[in-house]
Amino acid sequence: MRPARVIVDLGALRHNYRVARRHHAGRVLAVVKANAYGHGAVPCARALMGEADGFAVACIEEALQLREAGIQKPILLLEGVFEAGELALVNEHDLWLAVSTPEQVAMIEATPVARPLNAWLKLDTGMHRLGLLPAEAQAMRERLAASGKVGELHWMSHFASADELDLPTTEHQIECFDQATRGTGLEASLSNSAGILAHPRAHRDWGRAGILLYGSSPFAERSAAELGLRPVMRLMSRLISVRELPVGEAVGYGGTFVADKPMRVGTVACGYADGYPRLAGTGTPVAVDGRLTRLLGRVSMDMLAVDLTELPDAHVGSEVELWGETVPVDAVAKRAGTISYEILCNVKRARFEWADSAD
Ligand SMILES: *Cc1c(COP(=O)(O)O)cnc(C)c1O
Repeated sequence: MRPARVIVDLGALRHNYRVARRHHAGRVLAVVKANAYGHGAVPCARALMGEADGFAVACIEEALQLREAGIQKPILLLEGVFEAGELALVNEHDLWLAVSTPEQVAMIEATPVARPLNAWLKLDTGMHRLGLLPAEAQAMRERLAASGKVGELHWMSHFASADELDLPTTEHQIECFDQATRGTGLEASLSNSAGILAHPRAHRDWGRAGILLYGSSPFAERSAAELGLRPVMRLMSRLISVRELPVGEAVGYGGTFVADKPMRVGTVACGYADGYPRLAGTGTPVAVDGRLTRLLGRVSMDMLAVDLTELPDAHVGSEVELWGETVPVDAVAKRAGTISYEILCNVKRARFEWADSAD
């Protein structure tokens, strides 16, 4: 069998959830959209069942997958419904829904519902992606109340740059939110991971923790380890070939890496078809038998090359960690010019194993 595999540590996931709870005084929804950022939505939600206050997903398909697996905690649809027909399923499966557009407000007004909805009115406080205009917030709240279809109503908003600590953007968004919602006495939710970890003024009744649960830092300047987070996913494989490389010889497609001294090079069974980023070039950290070394040349579809010159004991069959405990996924993402979010939710093909360390 191909040796590429993904090991997901559910104990670390629970540990990270507790880090979020420690920072954020109020309750915290565990964001498990996009298959729990590539970690497996059902195993992750099951692992958090005992302590999470609820879950958040992007769409009803993701929510139904959790309900079918027996997850009975609250589940918030972060983008609400895409068409009126979904409201019956929202009722049937007791889901919470964000209401972010005038069209969604009109949809609720026009659609009979069996039971009152639990709605989260989302305001656009500056990100300009989803959300109602702050100036319309009260009018929309009154329309939903007058529809008689909403039982519980909450406010929410989302930050554009909470990870950039020297920008005033988040403070401006908080002020905008407070002004638009003043005096309503409704529960509110503002913070993503970066808000939970770095913006106490944004802590409200409910946080929404995503990337931090998976042991990755939302900040470019602060590592996950500094934040007390534990890595959850390990992408592992093995060396399937080892060779000596004379000076002047090149490695891989395009020959982009050329040996400037006699080298020893290993081939690893992992490539971009597994979700390893092709744009991670020479120098990206890789661990062989627990020791750090570097990637060489271009990543292929199923394989990549690593430098074994300083690792004389490495051999065919040696264990390789592409990211996880020795190699932070954030370091790989940085080398590839992207963020861990994209890399984690792109992982595919490799076999998945869910382990449970002590949390
Ligand atoms: C994905 C998402 C989150 C979680 O964001 P992280 O940065 O991963 O913590 C929170 N809120 C909304 C609306 C989201 O779409």
